[in-house]
Amino acid sequence: KAGGLLSQGIPEYRYPNEILEKELEYIYKTGVNIKLNYEINKNRFIDLAEEFDAVIVATGAQSPGVLNIEGEDDPAVENGIKFLTDINFNNLEKVNVGKNEKIGIIGGGYTAFDVARCSARLGADPHIIYRRTVNEMTAHPGEVEDSEEEGVTFHFLRQPVKIKRSGDKLKLVCAVMKLGPVDESGRAKPVQMKDAYEEFELDRIVMAVGDKPDLFFVGERFVNEYPNLNCPDLPDELKDKIFIAGDSSMGNSELIGMVVRAVGSAQITVEKVRKFLGEKIEPSENREIAFYNTINTKYFQESTRLVEKRIELEQRKKTFEEITKTIDEDTAVVFAERCFFCGICIQCDWCYYYSEGSLLKLGKEWSPETDESFYKYVLDKICDASFKSVEACPRSALSITDEDSKLMEVCDYQFVNFDEIKGK
Ligand SMILES: Cc1cc2nc3c(=O)[nH]c(=O)nc-3n(C[C@H](O)[C@H](O)[C@H](O)COP(=O)(O)OP(=O)(O)OC[C@H]3O[C@@H](n4cnc5c(N)ncnc54)[C@H](O)[C@@H]3O)c2cc1C
Ligand code: SF4
Repeated sequence: KAGGLLSQGIPEYRYPNEILEKELEYIYKTGVNIKLNYEINKNRFIDLAEEFDAVIVATGAQSPGVLNIEGEDDPAVENGIKFLTDINFNNLEKVNVGKNEKIGIIGGGYTAFDVARCSARLGADPHIIYRRTVNEMTAHPGEVEDSEEEGVTFHFLRQPVKIKRSGDKLKLVCAVMKLGPVDESGRAKPVQMKDAYEEFELDRIVMAVGDKPDLFFVGERFVNEYPNLNCPDLPDELKDKIFIAGDSSMGNSELIGMVVRAVGSAQITVEKVRKFLGEKIEPSENREIAFYNTINTKYFQESTRLVEKRIELEQRKKTFEEITKTIDEDTAVVFAERCFFCGICIQCDWCYYYSEGSLLKLGKEWSPETDESFYKYVLDKICDASFKSVEACPRSALSITDEDSKLMEVCDYQFVNFDEIKGK
């Protein structure tokens, strides 16, 4: 099935299958051909690169992370994404989660949470074992609390060092850790406490310790020069047409793991590919960004934020039903009206009223798609009021620019000589 982790990894309680089906239908309708059940290996990759004008590698980061500890190869030690794939594809017999089965889940990211919450729904007794603390987890806001309510137990500052078999049970030996100085990931590094260990008796163990990209099919050597993928092992004539996007382009970084980031990275890659294929793409205009502290919030009426509907805890514990309901169109429109239009002119005319005649109205029609100027300052009439009019803009769509600023080009275009206009 197409969709990558959207179909394999993300559980239905967060992303219902029905929505995925709609997304896929939309993609098929745009004319995309999706060839399923076709694993790319070295030979197939070369065939692909020979056949197509450009190739984008977007194979995600699904190669299982390992701890390299004794006993990790026991058959009762499973991979988190594989576990979730079976649940998402309804292969519940294969996952075979028993009632009250004690499952140790090693990790502290999306996969660990989803394995734990899925197995809780299937009647198991899940335990997340994590080497840092709750503050360093890469969970969605509120996810720790939600998981606890659903029956997940957390064990923080525990680093697995050995897995031992004991009859039909597994014994997970963990070193007790404490937090040390911040490491290269920007999080406090766990350091082992002297001679302190804890043992957990478990029925099975699921590894969720950070999956990595696996780009074996481009050859032994490659350099991720996102959006290009530099593959010295490929024949010369194919080298320039290989690009990369999504989780596979993010290496082993903290950036891995957000659908929106994967999509955003793909948009940048696609622009590069279109240029490579000879398409002329206009550079996007330089725009200044309006920040919350530069907008005049006093002009806006306060209105509360949407409180999304959630299903009850009892229902959450037993079913895979979507927890936070998608809002209907009318509600979406009502809440979209809270938008400040930061930095975007909507022709409210506040600046015009303040400008004491130094601003000229161009009488252009406004539409959400248009990003242009609807007013022009008259150079000869610039006065104190002009500056007041800039400050008056509720949404910080105007700004005063230094003479040597890069935005000066836009400014020149915006200033007109009133007399010149009158003369015409
Ligand atoms: C358990 C889990 C839960 C998550 N939950 C969320 C969430 O709630 N919200 C969020 O924003 N993000 C979430 N993420 C992260 C998100 O799913 C990923 O960032 C995103 O899906 C990455 O998209 P991608 O297309 O780059 O890679 P993927 O989704 O990994 O897709 C890669 C595709 O390439 C295929 N592939 C790999 N190798 C080969 C090969 N050799 N030949 C052929 N095909 C191959 C794979 O089968 C897969 O279909 C979650 C991730 C996980 C693991
Ligand atoms: S620049 Fe600001 S104040 Fe002037 S019309 Fe546009 S949004 Fe309103």
